[in-house]
Amino acid sequence: MSEAATGTATSILDVSDVSKSFPASKDLLGRVTARLQAVVQASLSIAPGETLGLVGESGSGKSTLGRLVMRLLDVDAGRIVLEGSDITEARGSELRAARRKMQIVFQDPQSSLDPNWLVRDIIAEPLRAYGVTRAEREAATERLLVDVGLEPTHGARYASEFSGGQRQRVAIARALALEPNLVVCDEPVSALDVSTQAQVLSLLESLRDRRGLAYLFIAHDLAVVHHISHRIAVMYLGRIVEVGPADEICRRPRHPYTEALLSAMPSPNPADRRQRILLTGEMPSPVNTPPGCRFQTRCTHAMDRCREIEPELVAFGDVEVACHLHDSGPILAGASVTVIPRK
Ligand code: SF4
Repeated sequence: MSEAATGTATSILDVSDVSKSFPASKDLLGRVTARLQAVVQASLSIAPGETLGLVGESGSGKSTLGRLVMRLLDVDAGRIVLEGSDITEARGSELRAARRKMQIVFQDPQSSLDPNWLVRDIIAEPLRAYGVTRAEREAATERLLVDVGLEPTHGARYASEFSGGQRQRVAIARALALEPNLVVCDEPVSALDVSTQAQVLSLLESLRDRRGLAYLFIAHDLAVVHHISHRIAVMYLGRIVEVGPADEICRRPRHPYTEALLSAMPSPNPADRRQRILLTGEMPSPVNTPPGCRFQTRCTHAMDRCREIEPELVAFGDVEVACHLHDSGPILAGASVTVIPRK
């Protein structure tokens, strides 16, 4: 794997060539006749204290990749290494030990928190499951409530009594109870209004910096991902198509899909505003992906080669991009795709 994919030599998480598909249809005998390719040969790494943003449209496979990292799903192929230990096939006590080191925050705190439980019991549940004493649980729960910007007295209330932002703070406190080193944040602010989004993002940044946490931050909104991420990986139809430092990806997109995502990103500075690129057509079905480049049906730069050969990720300095504009010719060879006029 190249430096762009690995981030640094001392990664907390290394994902190599991970793939996952699901049965999409079966015949009368129950035999699988078609499969949905959710994630295809995805590789990424995260360093301690680093945030890797994973961005893409709905159906790009980013949440499936997050669940594979968490081992909530089994991989079909590839390897997941957490803090130097291969956890790809981990089961039982080995998986339990890995789960202590990594936790997940889901998009919708309404459904991820049991409304019939007191907040202090929700936060203390992972500690109880790992045999922490009652006195230690109570002390830890108070500390966690304060850490996420709530009052210790909030522990005696039900999650259903709180606003969406407060419920997400409870979900974050629960995720931090076991003091993980890696947190997978799966669209953690998507269900919140804009001002609450900013507060929860700020809290996540502050917790990361205070605790040295690493995040895999999954979202469909590139502006949100750029705000919090050190590096960004862009996913399209199950594949990572571009990865690199967040500022570089947003200043000089190499992939036409990244350019389209960026064009929808609001900028307070008029000089930075881009012409909006409206993607035409639907994202192809992951059950029936086109040959060659997966983005070819919506790409204004598509060439004959794009319809035949699937581009591989190629490294240009800190950035990797999978697009024939960079490897055929080369026409761009690592430069921003914005310099090419669209057809
Ligand atoms: Fe577009 Fe071809 Fe690049 Fe795919 S490989 S993004 S179709 S130019």
